[in-house]
Amino acid sequence: MVKKVLKFGGTSVGTAERIQHVANIIKKEHSAGNKVIAVVSAMAGKTNELIKLSKEISEDFDKRELDVLLSSGEQVTCALLAASLIKLKIKAKSLMNWQIPILTEGEHANARIINIHVEKIDKYLDENGVVIIPGFQGISKNGDTTTIGRGGSDATAVAVAKIFNAEKCEIYTDVDGVFSTDPNKIPVAKKIDKISYDEMLELSSLGAKVMQSSAVQTAMIYDIPLEVKSTFTERKGTKIFSQVNIDYSKSVTGVAYSKDDAKITIIGVQDKPGVAANIFEPLSKSQINVDMVIQNISSDQKTTDVTFTVKRDDIAKTKKILKSNSKIKYKEIIHKDKVAKISIVGAGMVSTPGVTYRMFRALSDEDINILAISTSEIKLSVIIEEEHVLKAIKKLHTIFDLD
Ligand code: ADP
Ligand code: ASP
Ligand code: MG
Repeated sequence: MVKKVLKFGGTSVGTAERIQHVANIIKKEHSAGNKVIAVVSAMAGKTNELIKLSKEISEDFDKRELDVLLSSGEQVTCALLAASLIKLKIKAKSLMNWQIPILTEGEHANARIINIHVEKIDKYLDENGVVIIPGFQGISKNGDTTTIGRGGSDATAVAVAKIFNAEKCEIYTDVDGVFSTDPNKIPVAKKIDKISYDEMLELSSLGAKVMQSSAVQTAMIYDIPLEVKSTFTERKGTKIFSQVNIDYSKSVTGVAYSKDDAKITIIGVQDKPGVAANIFEPLSKSQINVDMVIQNISSDQKTTDVTFTVKRDDIAKTKKILKSNSKIKYKEIIHKDKVAKISIVGAGMVSTPGVTYRMFRALSDEDINILAISTSEIKLSVIIEEEHVLKAIKKLHTIFDLD
């Protein structure tokens, strides 16, 4: 008897028919003698719909109430799935976050799971029942409902797998696994059979939404092997586990992109020690995450231009902070938000020279201008104009032999 956590994403539970299909997958696992905890997302589009609804009330909707609102989507799926199992004569029940409870810490919309009580669930599993629980949410020390960030059902599944000591954590989704790039954008994308936590973490942080990055991070810290697979086909999925077992024959494993960055340039700032610290300290104190930074060489030794990227949602706040910063002097602040970040990721990059040069040459062959660059051991990211995203991904995918 194996304890399994099975997570089903929004598309997998997007209609009553699909929920019944999921119930059949669970029935098969249960009939094979496994103990199943199913973690479910809201039906596809539901969370976005609820966000839209909140905006009709107020652009500045109360944060506590927003979590109450958004967490409701998963409750609907839990009940529909539990009832589908009961209809199939399987002993099953849903438990809401506060009934379990799933305890969280941190601010609304961005809380973290810190503990989950196991007693009720373990008892029900021992009685041969299937437990259905909502992803994406929990309850704070004060008893308030919290949510843990978009795509957070993945993180719930990994936390459940860890706390319940599950032998398996399977992430069921609408594609066959993790691909070399988004298969819905680039049809020649190839499925990856095995990938290391580090590479998956880079890919998901850099935009591959197939796994939420904080879920991968928790899995990596606690060495919880994951499998991403399709709800709709029987094909083998992608195994995510620690690096020792990975083959490095390819320098690049995948290409990711995101369109949520924006670029800010401060023109004509003084070129002297302490200026960068004066620019970035107040940003960091206001929780603004600065990603890439470039400082031009000054021609007159007196002034320079500093360019950096932040999340697009943070643009207005960033400009306001810069403008009210009396410690810096400059000529002008400009920004550009129609930019995208394209990244290549691969553990094999460490041992393959020339990857950087090949990426830059490929983009220049396509007449794509690079606006900013950042690198780490296993990834290389560039900012380009948003309109060139598809062309860039296709080209990189081809030159790094991923097609
Ligand atoms: P779920 O609702 O099951 O959590 P998501 O929509 O969050 O599913 O994630 C699956 C989607 O991620 C796919 O439909 C695909 O378009 C997208 N995606 C982006 N990058 C990749 C990638 N490298 N491999 C697989 N899917 C990817
Ligand atoms: N329903 C939530 C969202 O859309 C959580 C999830 O699906 O993982 O972000
Ligand atoms: Mg998801």
